Amino acid sequence: MRIEEDLKLDYKDVLIRPKRSTLGSRKEVDLERGFTFRNYRPYVATDVLPDGYPVVQEQYRHYRGTPIMAANMDGVGTFEMADKLAEGKIFTCLVKTYSINELVNYFDSDMPERTDYVAMSIGITDSDHAKFRDVYEQTGSRLKYVCIDVANGYSSRFRDTVSEFRMMYPNLVIIAGNVVTGEMTEELILAGADIVKVGIGPGSVCTTRIQTGVGYPQLSAVMECADAAHGLGGHIIADGGCTCPGDVAKAFAGGADFVMLGGMLAGHDEGGGEVITKYYQTNELIREDVGDQTKETRQVEEKKYVQFYGMSSESANDKHFGGLKDYRSSEGRTVLVPYRGEVARTVQEILGGVRSTCTYAGALKLKQLAKCTTFVRCTQTHNAVYEKSTIGN
Ligand code: 5GP
Repeated sequence: MRIEEDLKLDYKDVLIRPKRSTLGSRKEVDLERGFTFRNYRPYVATDVLPDGYPVVQEQYRHYRGTPIMAANMDGVGTFEMADKLAEGKIFTCLVKTYSINELVNYFDSDMPERTDYVAMSIGITDSDHAKFRDVYEQTGSRLKYVCIDVANGYSSRFRDTVSEFRMMYPNLVIIAGNVVTGEMTEELILAGADIVKVGIGPGSVCTTRIQTGVGYPQLSAVMECADAAHGLGGHIIADGGCTCPGDVAKAFAGGADFVMLGGMLAGHDEGGGEVITKYYQTNELIREDVGDQTKETRQVEEKKYVQFYGMSSESANDKHFGGLKDYRSSEGRTVLVPYRGEVARTVQEILGGVRSTCTYAGALKLKQLAKCTTFVRCTQTHNAVYEKSTIGN
């Protein structure tokens, strides 16, 4: 047994130090980023010379967008969410549970946004691969991104799957995860991943750390994996643990190329969950004159919620796999999140926050935020005295 003594950090352990800047307003901040991916090879034969040799042109369809991603979770990674977010060039990793037909119908459309901002997600079983092959063969170049996603990205089987996919599908952008250390990030990129997903245990409905004691503080994981990936020309996603726009900004400031959100995008219409209405009796009394008497009744408050759960929770296992297998325990929770209507407002709030971060840090573009950032360690990030009494923004 060995102990690593250096302190590792979470989003809650730091703040971003403000800097003098020439930026006038947050409106000037450019949140879009453009990436070319390290391992993806979209060669397309576009012409044939008289001697019969094809002229092979590299038809790069570079990524350009607002590098936030919706997680492949029930209630978040849905087709409706993907279409809505793609309007703002935001990316979605679809849930793994869509059928082949549903996926083929979705990708086989005339909407280029579905190619550019949506990934099909799979695991690493043979049936996952067979399903992927079916969809890929029926949709061709319309499927550009695949997210190969397992809870523990440290198995050699996972690495081998990434490398097989790289060899079989050179024209796919491969997202692979999850890991939390630089050396495994490098290994996955060298095996063929373009984008590595980073995060073990930080998620809002994740209980891995409680069930297993395994994990890595998320901001340090992001900083270390980003450093490793960028050294090789790869990219990373900070996946999980963001609770507010400030956390999203800290993830970008820590070097994340993309930030993936589950809980922050849950509870919206586009997630498709059932809206549950609950009624609470409050302590507030309503007085009403009835004849010559005064009747007092308690005010009833109505609140709307949507169920949200981790993809390794008992709820997810019951819904998709006929219950938990007898050798495993649940590593996710089931919660009720407040119903929040359309996702567009939430997205605006997140982007508004990140834009404002850039102005404080003196970054004209999101791309510059990490370079402009000095984190300060802190014991308290904000004053929560009125958090429970807040009635509006
Ligand atoms: P959030 O943004 O909600 O904090 O985190 C979302 C991430 O949590 C997902 O992208 C995924 O990596 C992770 N996650 C989702 N469901 C589960 C689960 O049941 N268990 C664990 N350990 N992680 C989960």
